[in-house]
Amino acid sequence: MTIDAIKNGIVIDHIKAGRAMEIYEALGLADLDCSVAIIKNVVSKKSARKDIIKIDADIPVNLAVLGYIDPDITINIIKDGRVAEKKHIELPKKIYGILRCKNPRCITTVEQELPQIFKLTDPEKRTYRCIYCESKVK
Ligand code: ZN
Repeated sequence: MTIDAIKNGIVIDHIKAGRAMEIYEALGLADLDCSVAIIKNVVSKKSARKDIIKIDADIPVNLAVLGYIDPDITINIIKDGRVAEKKHIELPKKIYGILRCKNPRCITTVEQELPQIFKLTDPEKRTYRCIYCESKVK
């Protein structure tokens, strides 16, 4: 795979510089069989520096995870060497699975099989709270 062009795959663009690895890990890209390129510190027009991740396969990307990490990211779906679709991400209203409640008295600490669900309570401040005990994340 060349860095410039992929035929069919996904380009995760406008990642804040330095955050590509966090996204790589959150999306579990290490487990993929296809080529994944991480390009760091690219100079862009929009923001001073950015990271880009190129995935050489059309895999389902967890948009909620990306939205939580950085809602300014754009996703380009590449088909036959062209951008077939651009997806803008939003802050997810609810997050499943990637966060754990840190409140020791939360019911999820006792009942481990309960799904960890957090809801967006303040979009301005990007505040998420546990749906069971209302503890704040971050
Ligand atoms: Zn909780």
